[in-house]
Amino acid sequence: MSVTTKLLRLYRVDQQITGLQSRLKAAQRFLDEQERQIGGLETKRNAIDAQVRQLSATAGNLENDANSIQVRIDTLRELMNNAKTNKEYQALLVEVNTLKADKGKIDEQAIGYLEQIEKLQAELAELNTQKSEREKVKGVAATDRDQRADEIRDRLEELKKQREHLVKEVPADALAIYKDRTVRFGDDEDGVMAAIHTHDFRRHEFVCGSCMMGIPFESVLAILKEKLTPCTSCGVIMFVEEDLAEKLTAKSK
Ligand SMILES: [Zn+2]
Repeated sequence: MSVTTKLLRLYRVDQQITGLQSRLKAAQRFLDEQERQIGGLETKRNAIDAQVRQLSATAGNLENDANSIQVRIDTLRELMNNAKTNKEYQALLVEVNTLKADKGKIDEQAIGYLEQIEKLQAELAELNTQKSEREKVKGVAATDRDQRADEIRDRLEELKKQREHLVKEVPADALAIYKDRTVRFGDDEDGVMAAIHTHDFRRHEFVCGSCMMGIPFESVLAILKEKLTPCTSCGVIMFVEEDLAEKLTAKSK
């Protein structure tokens, strides 16, 4: 068996492993995304929570101020009732009116803060709803992830065993080239190995199945003669599919 064929068998197994894992990876990504969103909602919620606490403290202080002023107004009214002269009465009245105006402003401010707090609390409630909905999605996503992991476990084990066996058959230098391609182009379709495509069989025109650049007929023959042949344009490890190999062999007879 040629080196290319040995590599191809390894490649087919690797593709199956990647295919199986890609569904699991997608499920894991979806789960991670839910966790990320929940984290985002929590961050927002904490920020609003802190804001509410701060505003409540400020509103509380204002309320205390208003109460102190009220106590002072009540005292002054008491004094007004017992005023000896009109002048004294008028002086107290001026002070009471000033204090009432001050208190009015403070009350207004406090109401403004309370309204803000109310709005924020509505936002908090909305965020809590969003979070609990997201938690439900996360629960489903986690189950889905676990299910997929379970589904592929046995098949994956089987393929990994096959792989262990196949990898031993491949000569070290070819394996090094294969590993390098896998690391650099493993995520691309036809990135590691690619079949030679026939452009014009009669004229011996063939192209690399990965980059579609023409390849010399000698390279095709070299692959048939068991020589590991990377594409000179893109570096992909080329192979000849069985039906083409048969056609070429038949022709050379
Ligand atoms: Zn190529």
